[in-house]
Amino acid sequence: TRTTAQWQAADAAHHLHPFTDFKSLSAKGTRVIVRGDGIYVWDSEGHRLLDAMSGLWCVNVGYGRRELIDAATKQLETLPFYNSFFQTTTPPAIELAELLAEITPPQFKHVFFGGSGSEGNDTVVRLVRRYWDLMGQPKRDVIISRHNAYHGSTMAGASLGGMSGMHQQGGLPIPGIEHIQQPFWFEQGRGHTRDEFGLTAARWLEAKIREVGPDRVAAFIGEPVQGAGGVIVPPDTYWPEVQRICDQYGILLVSDEVICGFGRTGQWFGCETFGFRPDLMTFAKGVTSGYIPLGGVMVGERLARVLIDEGGEFNHGYTYSGHPVACAVALANLRLLQREGVVERVREELAPHLAWHFEQLADHPLVGEVQTCGMMAALQLVKDKATSEVFDPTLEVGMVCRAHCFGNGLVMRAVGDRMIVAPPLVMSIAQLDEMGALIRQCLDLTLADLRS
Ligand code: PLP
Repeated sequence: TRTTAQWQAADAAHHLHPFTDFKSLSAKGTRVIVRGDGIYVWDSEGHRLLDAMSGLWCVNVGYGRRELIDAATKQLETLPFYNSFFQTTTPPAIELAELLAEITPPQFKHVFFGGSGSEGNDTVVRLVRRYWDLMGQPKRDVIISRHNAYHGSTMAGASLGGMSGMHQQGGLPIPGIEHIQQPFWFEQGRGHTRDEFGLTAARWLEAKIREVGPDRVAAFIGEPVQGAGGVIVPPDTYWPEVQRICDQYGILLVSDEVICGFGRTGQWFGCETFGFRPDLMTFAKGVTSGYIPLGGVMVGERLARVLIDEGGEFNHGYTYSGHPVACAVALANLRLLQREGVVERVREELAPHLAWHFEQLADHPLVGEVQTCGMMAALQLVKDKATSEVFDPTLEVGMVCRAHCFGNGLVMRAVGDRMIVAPPLVMSIAQLDEMGALIRQCLDLTLADLRS
């Protein structure tokens, strides 16, 4: 094996990392993660890190689960690949489609598979536009999304997304995508109750529909809780009002469940936690707990009936749509969630304990706001707790805090000055306590830096 310096040199010489300033790879080197077990990962220096981000919001059942490893091995031996094009398929793809129809809300009986969340959202764009074509309304092609959303990195995914910096690179968005403001109470809602603000934010959708023209709007897409944008938990009033508006104008509603799906919010799907009824649902990440790439779109009966009865061939698909090894791993992962009652335990035991920890952390002098939803949480760092004045962004206080986390055995993400976690859904209470204590320690170290 190699030393860390050797790994870093080879990496800087050859690997262009996603969402990374390439120059920093040669200047500072990269952290090389070599092993995982349970909720911990180890780097090439032997440091153990509590992975409070579940990899990238995906390793929901923790690292090293035998059932998933065995399912992959068995399927690799039996049939490592066959496709689902041209009227062929494989048993794992059939069984996974059947199980997804069982565990998703009742309007979903059909799935279209892909390899990732980004591909899922590209599929959404094509399915939505195809549906309106088949309905005889081809001009209805505009999809409304939100600022600071993340829907992936393909051309359509990144166009739907609204995170700063993404549209500037590569001439995005593609035509027919519109954005409205996100429901971010801390930034935009103060002076209102959360419930009032939720209604106001939902009505930005109605204003946009009127601006574009109701007969031009095909769909609205949103993450139940905006994840990569900083765990922006909407007020309870937001989604029911969005649902009402979509119903009123006959617009398709799409829930991007790539992060929220499969138990993260304390229900199987985020739309169940927030009380809305999507026509389409994108999923990825947690479907396999990240052990192997798989994503897709659940297609509600409103669309499926039209696509099946009137659509003819849908000219769309990926080599790895319904990949048998990925589907076998997903089956093992979902059955594990069912057998161990993971989603119920998140709702009844873990999420309340995580929320309790974050309520304690709200007392910290650096913390202006805390938000939690299921096993996701955010701490907004502020300069002045009394007035909620934020730091000068050039100080990069979030990055200072993140560095203390890494230095002290904790993986926590910084979105600007918003510190976020989305830990595995299978933690013990003692491990949650360990995480809470580590976060406080890192906040203290960050505060000490700011005062020195
Ligand atoms: N949608 C959401 C809500 C996501 O968080 C992500 C990834 O973080 C994606 C889509 C894109 O998924 P992928 O990276 O698998 O393409």
